[in-house]
Amino acid sequence: MIACAEAVKQRLLEAGVDKAEIHPTAGHPIVYAEKIVDPSKPTVLVYGHYDVQPADPLELWNSGPFDPQIVDGKIFARGSCDDKGQFYMHVKALETMVQTNTLENNIKFCIEGEEEVGSPNLATYVKANTNLLKADCVLISDTAMISLDTPSLDIGLRGLSYIEVEVTGPNRDLHSGVYGGAVANPITILAKMIASLHDENNHITIPGFYADVLESSAEERALMAEAPFKEAEYKADLGVIELWGETGYSTNERTGIRPTLELNGIWGGYTGEGAKTVLPGKAFAKISARLVPNQNSNKIADLLIGHLQTIAPILCNRKSHPAPWRRALPYPHGQQRLQSRQQSHGNHLWQSTRTRTWRRQHTHLQPV
Ligand SMILES: [Zn+2]
Repeated sequence: MIACAEAVKQRLLEAGVDKAEIHPTAGHPIVYAEKIVDPSKPTVLVYGHYDVQPADPLELWNSGPFDPQIVDGKIFARGSCDDKGQFYMHVKALETMVQTNTLENNIKFCIEGEEEVGSPNLATYVKANTNLLKADCVLISDTAMISLDTPSLDIGLRGLSYIEVEVTGPNRDLHSGVYGGAVANPITILAKMIASLHDENNHITIPGFYADVLESSAEERALMAEAPFKEAEYKADLGVIELWGETGYSTNERTGIRPTLELNGIWGGYTGEGAKTVLPGKAFAKISARLVPNQNSNKIADLLIGHLQTIAPILCNRKSHPAPWRRALPYPHGQQRLQSRQQSHGNHLWQSTRTRTWRRQHTHLQPV
């Protein structure tokens, strides 16, 4: 991580910043850089992160995860689209503007190394460096575009509630030939519990789950319906024959304005090579909910845990809970920028409330 922070600092210096520094935190360091062309001009603060998700499963990579390869015009490497590629785009844009003498505003960079674990030290750093980071706007490119040829502004991100479930059966793993049929199998119980969390319309069955959901207006839904979304391409890209989701909502609505519940992992018993006729003593699952305004992460975790505990006695651990947010329409500043960008780009710039693929590591384990 230190080497990576050094590399970011070096690239920023090469791009032409006045100074670039590595600032230690209680965790991984933050790279700060600035180019001040005129203190009386507005300042843009670029946020990004140089840390990445784990590279495994390694066997599914066609090339080394940290050995970038360009295939069909796309860079394949861990973090190339989250978020090294995005923030590096701004570094290279700055370089071009410096070389062509077209930089009219001041620019600062704050590139952290802990986004993928929930940015545990960023808030402390920001509070301790408010003057240093002072800016007129923050530019974050850590989100997705609605399609490859459609520049997009994200005006909302879904939040997250994450729990880990442990179902305990017999006091030890048993032999299924001896005990099978006489003792409840925790994996079977867990599977039934999980299967009961959605009804036939793919609505979530947890009582109160939708109570605080801010319903989108007809105007917002009409705008979403105009988005340049091609369902056939979406399915082909994912290799699925049919899409799946909550009845009554489009795919963009399902991934943007509706809360969801997903299984992120399930394990128990014997999962190695070959066969072992075990009746396991425990089964586990990781379950997350994607949340929309005005749902509260802790409240949803309470509802989820409470509901699961009414089905079977279980142990649940809570995980990190970033909150959802969404910019309300109308969005005048964004609209102005959309129009000017549209003119220069020739393509529609799209406001999107689609979520990026946030996968948080677990930093706050609290037994319930
Ligand atoms: Zn990211």
